[in-house]
Amino acid sequence: MSTTTGTPRGVLFQWAGILPLTERTPRLTLGEGDTPLVRSAALEGLCGLDELWFKLESCNPTGSFKDRGMVVAVAKAVEAGAKAIMCASTGNTSASAAAYAARCGIECFVLVPGGKVAAGKMAQAVAFGSRILEVEGNFDQALNAARELTEKHPVALVNSVNPHRIAGQKTAAFEICEALGDAPDVLAIPVGNAGNITAYWKGFCECTELGRASGHPRMMGFQAAGAAPIVHGAPIEQPQTVATAIRIGNPASWQGATAARDESGGLIAAVTDEEILEAYELLARREGLFVEPASAAGVAGLLRLGREGRTRGGRAVAILTGNGLKDPDTAAAQYSPDITRAKATVEGVERALGW
Ligand SMILES: *Cc1c(COP(=O)(O)O)cnc(C)c1O
Repeated sequence: MSTTTGTPRGVLFQWAGILPLTERTPRLTLGEGDTPLVRSAALEGLCGLDELWFKLESCNPTGSFKDRGMVVAVAKAVEAGAKAIMCASTGNTSASAAAYAARCGIECFVLVPGGKVAAGKMAQAVAFGSRILEVEGNFDQALNAARELTEKHPVALVNSVNPHRIAGQKTAAFEICEALGDAPDVLAIPVGNAGNITAYWKGFCECTELGRASGHPRMMGFQAAGAAPIVHGAPIEQPQTVATAIRIGNPASWQGATAARDESGGLIAAVTDEEILEAYELLARREGLFVEPASAAGVAGLLRLGREGRTRGGRAVAILTGNGLKDPDTAAAQYSPDITRAKATVEGVERALGW
């Protein structure tokens, strides 16, 4: 759908019927949602699947899935009279919050762990004019502070503990069922604070209830090995991983994630940074999909299960949560660029190529 004819683009327009909107909710949009679902060109077989599809959440306006929930959370905050919002963030939540706050003309405070936010995400928070507080401590500590601060001061909390975030994010499950004509057999997704796996599970359950799907997928969540509290069954004090978006030691939606796993007959497993970077490179080199490291975790998990012969065919959807441009430093470290110098002439380029 276009912005010039018919229904405007955006989650609040396309999915109004399944969202907690009232007449007074501002119809905010940056054109989020309605992201492409693209069939895998090369990795299906390696994963032991009949079909593998990628949901390109990197195509959202600020480059991650966070926009789907943020548009609802910010619209509801404005409806309730908020003049400011706050979040703790590993980067993408702050990029998204800052964008929608700028759009509404309200203030945005972001609490980010010092030195641990990818360069592209930081650039967005700066560009959108948010008030950035680089805090000493990790994401989990920043979120605790944000929760208390927003209870004490007239500022709305827009982390995924805000139920409007989950409501907005569940729309991706509806889009998948619509595009495939049914739910997939498997959903593979990275797990950080666990809001997204919670939201997808809610979405798939509602799709079944509403007759939009004949069943639900097995939910397969993947944490980074150095930040895998749900896998270990206990919080991690000092989470570590190259995938900074899932560098979280005590997920706020822990219960939601384990419920999704258990009720769907799925799993939550850990993948190493090595496996994440292998999937990151395969996605770029074999699929033409440049994602940020966290987004490769779900594919890393499917590759592992495929190697172990545990996927048994079927149709899977992997959620590619964020754009590779968010984290240029990891790309620079992963690839030693093979750049040849040449004069800008036919002869110069031929000589450089040995033609
Ligand atoms: C936020 C985020 C995640 C993790 O999502 P949760 O809801 O915190 O589990 C994964 N990938 C990217 C790119 C993210 O921005």
